[in-house]
Amino acid sequence: MSEHKGIFTSDAVKGYLAAEAKMESEQLSERLWTVSDGKYRSIFVEAESSVVAFDTFGTPARARAYAAEINRSIPDKPVSTVIYTHDHLDHAGFAADFAPDAKIVADEMTAKVIAMRNADGQLPVTDALSGQEHSVTYDGAEFTLLNRGPVHGTGHLSAYFEDEKLFFSSDTILANARYGLMPDYHIANFVKIMRSFLDLDFERFVPGRYEVTDRKRFEEGCDYIEAMQTTCQQAFISFTPIWVHDAMATYVQNELGERFGHLDGFKEHAGQTAIRIVHHYLMGGWGLEDTPDPGILLADER
Ligand SMILES: [Zn+2]
Repeated sequence: MSEHKGIFTSDAVKGYLAAEAKMESEQLSERLWTVSDGKYRSIFVEAESSVVAFDTFGTPARARAYAAEINRSIPDKPVSTVIYTHDHLDHAGFAADFAPDAKIVADEMTAKVIAMRNADGQLPVTDALSGQEHSVTYDGAEFTLLNRGPVHGTGHLSAYFEDEKLFFSSDTILANARYGLMPDYHIANFVKIMRSFLDLDFERFVPGRYEVTDRKRFEEGCDYIEAMQTTCQQAFISFTPIWVHDAMATYVQNELGERFGHLDGFKEHAGQTAIRIVHHYLMGGWGLEDTPDPGILLADER
Protein backbone atom coordinates (compact mmCIF):
# COMPACT_ATOMS: atom_id res chain seq x y z
CA MET A 1 0.00 0.00 0.00
CA SER A 2 1.37 3.39 -0.88
CA GLU A 3 1.12 6.09 1.74
CA HIS A 4 0.71 9.83 1.51
CA LYS A 5 4.15 11.25 2.10
CA GLY A 6 3.72 14.82 3.30
CA ILE A 7 6.89 16.49 1.98
CA PHE A 8 9.16 13.48 2.47
CA THR A 9 10.95 12.50 -0.74
CA SER A 10 12.46 9.18 0.33
CA ASP A 11 10.40 6.03 -0.21
CA ALA A 12 12.15 4.51 2.79
CA VAL A 13 10.15 6.77 5.08
CA LYS A 14 7.09 4.58 4.49
CA GLY A 15 8.04 2.58 7.58
CA TYR A 16 7.49 5.72 9.64
CA LEU A 17 4.35 6.83 7.84
CA ALA A 18 2.65 3.44 8.17
CA ALA A 19 3.73 2.61 11.74
CA GLU A 20 0.68 1.67 13.78
CA ALA A 21 -0.21 3.92 16.68
CA LYS A 22 -2.41 3.42 19.68
CA MET A 23 -4.95 6.17 20.28
CA GLU A 24 -6.73 6.75 23.53
CA SER A 25 -9.68 9.06 23.93
CA GLU A 26 -11.29 10.49 27.00
CA GLN A 27 -14.69 12.14 27.29
CA LEU A 28 -14.45 15.67 28.71
CA SER A 29 -18.14 16.63 28.57
CA GLU A 30 -21.32 15.34 27.03
CA ARG A 31 -20.19 16.46 23.57
CA LEU A 32 -16.44 16.95 23.87
CA TRP A 33 -13.60 14.41 23.73
CA THR A 34 -9.82 14.52 23.81
CA VAL A 35 -7.61 11.99 22.07
CA SER A 36 -3.89 11.26 22.25
CA ASP A 37 -1.34 8.89 20.75
CA GLY A 38 0.69 9.22 23.95
CA LYS A 39 2.44 12.38 22.83
CA TYR A 40 0.31 14.45 20.47
CA ARG A 41 -3.19 15.45 21.55
CA SER A 42 -6.31 16.80 19.90
CA ILE A 43 -10.05 17.14 20.53
CA PHE A 44 -13.29 16.29 18.75
CA VAL A 45 -16.89 17.33 19.24
CA GLU A 46 -20.07 15.31 18.85
CA ALA A 47 -22.42 17.39 16.69
CA GLU A 48 -26.04 16.60 15.77
CA SER A 49 -25.47 14.04 13.05
CA SER A 50 -21.70 14.11 12.64
CA VAL A 51 -18.38 14.78 14.35
CA VAL A 52 -16.33 17.99 14.24
CA ALA A 53 -12.66 17.09 14.69
CA PHE A 54 -9.56 19.19 15.22
CA ASP A 55 -6.42 18.30 13.23
CA THR A 56 -5.46 14.89 11.85
CA PHE A 57 -2.32 13.70 13.68
CA GLY A 58 0.98 13.48 11.87
CA THR A 59 1.16 10.34 9.73
CA PRO A 60 -1.33 8.43 7.56
CA ALA A 61 -1.40 5.57 10.09
CA ARG A 62 -2.05 7.95 12.97
CA ALA A 63 -4.76 9.72 10.96
CA ARG A 64 -6.47 6.35 10.37
CA ALA A 65 -6.12 5.44 14.04
CA TYR A 66 -7.64 8.83 14.97
CA ALA A 67 -10.63 8.14 12.69
CA ALA A 68 -11.03 4.67 14.19
CA GLU A 69 -10.89 6.05 17.73
CA ILE A 70 -13.58 8.63 16.94
CA ASN A 71 -15.72 5.89 15.46
CA ARG A 72 -15.25 3.82 18.60
CA SER A 73 -16.21 6.75 20.84
CA ILE A 74 -19.09 8.05 18.70
CA PRO A 75 -20.33 5.22 16.48
CA ASP A 76 -22.34 5.94 13.33
CA LYS A 77 -21.50 9.63 13.06
CA PRO A 78 -19.05 10.52 10.28
CA VAL A 79 -16.47 13.29 10.58
CA SER A 80 -18.12 16.16 8.67
CA THR A 81 -15.73 18.93 9.57
CA VAL A 82 -11.98 19.07 10.23
CA ILE A 83 -10.50 22.22 11.74
CA TYR A 84 -6.78 22.74 11.21
CA THR A 85 -5.31 24.53 14.23
CA HIS A 86 -2.30 25.47 12.10
CA ASP A 87 -0.45 24.36 9.00
CA HIS A 88 2.10 21.94 10.47
CA LEU A 89 2.13 18.44 9.02
CA ASP A 90 2.76 16.75 12.37
CA HIS A 91 -0.66 17.96 13.54
CA ALA A 92 -2.71 18.60 10.42
CA GLY A 93 -0.95 16.88 7.54
CA PHE A 94 -3.13 13.90 6.70
CA ALA A 95 -6.81 14.68 6.28
CA ALA A 96 -6.71 12.53 3.13
CA ASP A 97 -6.29 9.51 5.44
CA PHE A 98 -8.51 10.84 8.20
CA ALA A 99 -11.68 12.25 6.65
CA PRO A 100 -11.27 12.66 2.88
CA ASP A 101 -14.81 13.98 2.33
CA ALA A 102 -14.95 16.42 5.22
CA LYS A 103 -15.16 20.18 5.06
CA ILE A 104 -11.76 21.63 6.02
CA VAL A 105 -11.77 24.80 8.11
CA ALA A 106 -8.70 26.95 8.88
CA ASP A 107 -7.50 30.51 9.06
CA GLU A 108 -6.96 32.05 5.64
CA MET A 109 -3.20 32.38 6.19
CA THR A 110 -3.04 28.67 7.00
CA ALA A 111 -5.03 28.03 3.83
CA LYS A 112 -2.47 29.93 1.76
CA VAL A 113 0.52 28.07 3.17
CA ILE A 114 -1.19 24.71 2.65
CA ALA A 115 -2.21 25.56 -0.91
CA MET A 116 1.33 26.65 -1.79
CA ARG A 117 3.03 23.78 0.04
CA ASN A 118 0.89 21.14 -1.65
CA ALA A 119 2.03 18.38 0.72
CA ASP A 120 0.90 14.88 -0.19
CA GLY A 121 -2.03 13.96 2.08
CA GLN A 122 -2.71 17.43 3.49
CA LEU A 123 -6.08 18.37 2.02
CA PRO A 124 -6.61 22.01 1.03
CA VAL A 125 -8.80 24.27 3.15
CA THR A 126 -12.38 24.52 1.90
CA ASP A 127 -13.65 27.09 4.43
CA ALA A 128 -11.08 29.80 5.17
CA LEU A 129 -11.78 32.10 8.12
CA SER A 130 -10.76 35.76 8.07
CA GLY A 131 -10.45 37.64 11.32
CA GLN A 132 -9.51 37.21 14.94
CA GLU A 133 -12.63 35.72 16.51
CA HIS A 134 -15.35 33.48 15.14
CA SER A 135 -18.43 32.17 16.91
CA VAL A 136 -18.98 29.08 14.79
CA THR A 137 -21.69 26.45 14.57
CA TYR A 138 -20.98 23.26 12.65
CA ASP A 139 -23.85 20.77 12.51
CA GLY A 140 -25.27 22.27 15.70
CA ALA A 141 -21.97 22.31 17.63
CA GLU A 142 -21.22 25.83 18.84
CA PHE A 143 -17.88 27.16 20.03
CA THR A 144 -15.38 29.96 19.40
CA LEU A 145 -12.25 29.96 17.21
CA LEU A 146 -9.58 32.55 17.95
CA ASN A 147 -6.53 33.89 16.13
CA ARG A 148 -5.13 36.80 18.11
CA GLY A 149 -1.89 36.94 16.15
CA PRO A 150 1.16 34.83 15.42
CA VAL A 151 2.01 32.42 18.24
CA HIS A 152 2.96 29.21 16.43
CA GLY A 153 2.87 28.12 12.80
CA THR A 154 0.84 30.19 10.36
CA GLY A 155 -2.72 31.37 11.05
CA HIS A 156 -2.94 29.57 14.37
CA LEU A 157 -6.46 28.96 15.71
CA SER A 158 -7.28 28.19 19.32
CA ALA A 159 -10.72 27.04 20.44
CA TYR A 160 -12.83 28.14 23.39
CA PHE A 161 -15.73 26.08 24.67
CA GLU A 162 -17.68 28.40 26.94
CA ASP A 163 -20.13 25.80 28.28
CA GLU A 164 -17.27 23.52 29.31
CA LYS A 165 -15.02 26.39 30.46
CA LEU A 166 -12.36 24.72 28.35
CA PHE A 167 -9.61 26.16 26.16
CA PHE A 168 -7.77 24.17 23.47
CA SER A 169 -4.58 25.54 21.94
CA SER A 170 -2.40 23.18 19.96
CA ASP A 171 1.40 23.42 19.98
CA THR A 172 1.61 26.51 22.15
CA ILE A 173 1.75 26.30 25.96
CA LEU A 174 2.49 22.91 27.53
CA ALA A 175 1.85 21.75 31.07
CA ASN A 176 5.52 20.80 31.30
CA ALA A 177 8.94 21.88 29.98
CA ARG A 178 9.04 19.39 27.11
CA TYR A 179 9.43 21.97 24.38
CA GLY A 180 11.66 20.93 21.51
CA LEU A 181 13.69 23.39 19.50
CA MET A 182 10.57 25.56 19.22
CA PRO A 183 10.74 26.02 15.46
CA ASP A 184 8.02 28.31 14.14
CA TYR A 185 7.17 29.65 17.59
CA HIS A 186 6.87 33.42 17.28
CA ILE A 187 8.75 34.51 20.35
CA ALA A 188 8.31 38.29 20.03
CA ASN A 189 4.60 38.09 20.74
CA PHE A 190 4.08 34.51 21.94
CA VAL A 191 3.68 35.05 25.70
CA LYS A 192 1.78 38.31 25.31
CA ILE A 193 -0.80 36.73 23.02
CA MET A 194 -1.03 33.45 24.94
CA ARG A 195 -1.48 35.31 28.22
CA SER A 196 -4.28 37.34 26.62
CA PHE A 197 -6.36 34.16 26.47
CA LEU A 198 -6.62 34.32 30.27
CA ASP A 199 -9.42 36.82 29.68
CA LEU A 200 -11.52 33.78 28.73
CA ASP A 201 -13.35 32.05 31.55
CA PHE A 202 -11.69 28.62 31.28
CA GLU A 203 -10.75 26.15 33.95
CA ARG A 204 -9.43 23.27 31.84
CA PHE A 205 -6.72 23.62 29.24
CA VAL A 206 -6.08 21.06 26.49
CA PRO A 207 -2.64 21.48 24.88
CA GLY A 208 -1.54 19.90 21.59
CA ARG A 209 0.84 17.57 23.36
CA TYR A 210 0.91 15.61 26.59
CA GLU A 211 -1.66 15.74 29.33
CA VAL A 212 -4.84 17.77 29.78
CA THR A 213 -4.26 20.42 32.38
CA ASP A 214 -5.82 23.47 33.99
CA ARG A 215 -5.77 27.24 34.01
CA LYS A 216 -3.09 27.44 36.71
CA ARG A 217 -0.69 25.28 34.72
CA PHE A 218 -1.44 27.28 31.58
CA GLU A 219 -0.47 30.43 33.44
CA GLU A 220 2.66 28.75 34.75
CA GLY A 221 3.51 27.75 31.16
CA CYS A 222 3.34 31.42 30.14
CA ASP A 223 5.53 32.32 33.14
CA TYR A 224 8.09 29.68 32.15
CA ILE A 225 8.57 30.90 28.59
CA GLU A 226 8.69 34.50 29.77
CA ALA A 227 11.31 33.66 32.40
CA MET A 228 13.26 31.71 29.78
CA GLN A 229 13.25 34.82 27.58
CA THR A 230 14.59 36.98 30.42
CA THR A 231 17.25 34.43 31.36
CA CYS A 232 18.38 34.04 27.75
CA GLN A 233 18.98 37.79 27.60
CA GLN A 234 21.03 37.54 30.80
CA ALA A 235 23.16 34.88 29.12
CA PHE A 236 24.46 37.58 26.77
CA ILE A 237 25.49 39.78 29.69
CA SER A 238 27.43 36.95 31.33
CA PHE A 239 29.10 36.04 28.02
CA THR A 240 27.81 32.48 28.17
CA PRO A 241 28.71 30.76 24.85
CA ILE A 242 25.21 30.97 23.48
CA TRP A 243 25.79 28.62 20.53
CA VAL A 244 26.85 25.75 22.80
CA HIS A 245 24.00 23.57 23.96
CA ASP A 246 25.61 22.23 27.12
CA ALA A 247 26.76 25.67 28.25
CA MET A 248 23.28 27.12 27.72
CA ALA A 249 21.64 24.12 29.40
CA THR A 250 23.80 24.55 32.49
CA TYR A 251 23.20 28.29 32.55
CA VAL A 252 19.40 28.16 32.35
CA GLN A 253 19.14 25.14 34.66
CA ASN A 254 21.04 27.10 37.30
CA GLU A 255 19.03 30.27 36.77
CA LEU A 256 15.57 28.73 36.47
CA GLY A 257 15.88 25.44 38.37
CA GLU A 258 14.57 26.73 41.67
CA ARG A 259 11.39 28.15 40.16
CA PHE A 260 10.71 25.72 37.32
CA GLY A 261 12.79 22.61 38.08
CA HIS A 262 9.62 20.76 39.08
CA LEU A 263 8.26 20.93 35.52
CA ASP A 264 8.41 17.57 33.82
CA GLY A 265 11.24 17.45 31.26
CA PHE A 266 12.94 20.60 32.56
CA LYS A 267 16.41 19.10 32.89
CA GLU A 268 16.38 17.44 29.44
CA HIS A 269 14.68 20.20 27.48
CA ALA A 270 15.65 23.57 28.99
CA GLY A 271 18.91 23.68 27.02
CA GLN A 272 17.39 23.34 23.57
CA THR A 273 14.60 25.78 24.43
CA ALA A 274 17.28 28.27 25.46
CA ILE A 275 19.27 27.73 22.26
CA ARG A 276 16.19 28.68 20.25
CA ILE A 277 15.37 31.72 22.34
CA VAL A 278 18.90 33.19 22.44
CA HIS A 279 18.81 33.14 18.65
CA HIS A 280 15.65 35.20 18.73
CA TYR A 281 17.55 37.95 20.53
CA LEU A 282 20.70 37.42 18.51
CA MET A 283 19.00 37.75 15.14
CA GLY A 284 16.03 39.97 15.91
CA GLY A 285 13.45 37.31 15.26
CA TRP A 286 12.31 35.21 12.35
CA GLY A 287 10.77 37.46 9.72
CA LEU A 288 7.53 39.36 9.79
CA GLU A 289 5.95 37.29 12.52
CA ASP A 290 8.49 38.59 15.03
CA THR A 291 7.94 42.26 14.38
CA PRO A 292 6.43 44.29 17.24
CA ASP A 293 3.09 44.71 15.46
CA PRO A 294 2.27 41.20 14.37
CA GLY A 295 -0.96 42.49 12.86
CA ILE A 296 0.90 42.61 9.57
CA LEU A 297 0.30 38.87 9.39
CA LEU A 298 -3.40 39.54 9.70
CA ALA A 299 -3.15 42.15 6.97
CA ASP A 300 -5.41 40.33 4.58
CA GLU A 301 -7.93 39.94 7.35
CA ARG A 302 -8.51 43.59 8.06
ZN1 LIG B 1 3.10 23.00 15.14
